[in-house]
Amino acid sequence: MVNDRLVHVLESRNLLSNVQCGFRKDHSTLDHLGADRATLLKLYRTLVRSKLDYGSVIYGSAKKHVLRALDSIHHQGLRIALGAFRTSPIKSLYAEAGEPSLEHWRMKLAFNYVLKLKSLPRNLCHEVVFEAPLSDFSVVTKSEPNLVANTFEHFKNANISLNIIDNLHVQCPPPWEEHNITVDISLTKQNKENTSIRGNENVDKLAKAAPNRTSTSGKLIYYSDLKCKINTYIKSVWQRDWDAEGANKLHEVLPNLGEDLHRRGKGAGRKLETAMCRLRVGHTWLTQSYLLKNEQQPFCYAWDSLYTVRHILIDCPDFQDTRRKYFSLTDLYRLFREVNPSRIVGYLKDLGVYGKI
Ligand SMILES: [Zn+2]
Repeated sequence: MVNDRLVHVLESRNLLSNVQCGFRKDHSTLDHLGADRATLLKLYRTLVRSKLDYGSVIYGSAKKHVLRALDSIHHQGLRIALGAFRTSPIKSLYAEAGEPSLEHWRMKLAFNYVLKLKSLPRNLCHEVVFEAPLSDFSVVTKSEPNLVANTFEHFKNANISLNIIDNLHVQCPPPWEEHNITVDISLTKQNKENTSIRGNENVDKLAKAAPNRTSTSGKLIYYSDLKCKINTYIKSVWQRDWDAEGANKLHEVLPNLGEDLHRRGKGAGRKLETAMCRLRVGHTWLTQSYLLKNEQQPFCYAWDSLYTVRHILIDCPDFQDTRRKYFSLTDLYRLFREVNPSRIVGYLKDLGVYGKI
């Protein structure tokens, strides 16, 4: 008992590291390891999702109910990294983690595969994908439309022409076998502010005119130069999905995907970042545990309103005096952007509900 007490005192005064304090009851293993959300997401992407990615261009044409088995792994990974509850909506997890659904992710991988294949005309699959009628294949096998074949429709929607992709050439002889490379370093002897170098004006003119030119002006480009266009397209498809989630609690806080609200509480400890994530998603133990315990939804009878995160943080007049000490905003969108997370936590601690978040 003395030992436990001593460890508690040393730990609370930050005199022990997370590992030194051992794995004690009521403490998450992740807290002890000091793993923050960004590290956990990185670990998930590297160790788990990379395995799901392998061969996805081929197995991605499987039936939806078969692919759904993989979704549960994806969701579990995100839930652990974010510290979210099982009741949290899946689309909120995607938006909060900045991680697309596996369906969108597979679509992106298929895009990249087609782009690269287009630049490799000697590849065995090139003829099958670009010349053989893939739609006939789908009819014969009675399978779902091929994932790669599906991308052609998306390429049209994204306004990406595959005909501008250059073939990858193997340089012969390879650059490391080339000798006597002449390097002209005479420019380094010039003063940087010296503008009288011959030809400089022409270079400046051409540089200024470059953005006004049509993108490729008939020239072929390297396949990976189109990847950013693909990323933009996938993000727009995801954003369209997200915009359809009008009733989602997180949508009010985070209408535009890609914004990292988490950075405000970064480095403040696992407990705080988990609490802030649950508050943004709108699913905390205090407000949603009734779903897991099969009880009635908490209700604020004094003000005839459901007991939600919004009600606690913004609406409930009973907490008005306490709230004024920490912040005085009336919408969640601004609250999570303008108020320091430690003040929101301070408010909840003052109300005595922080431990139930
Ligand atoms: Zn109330």
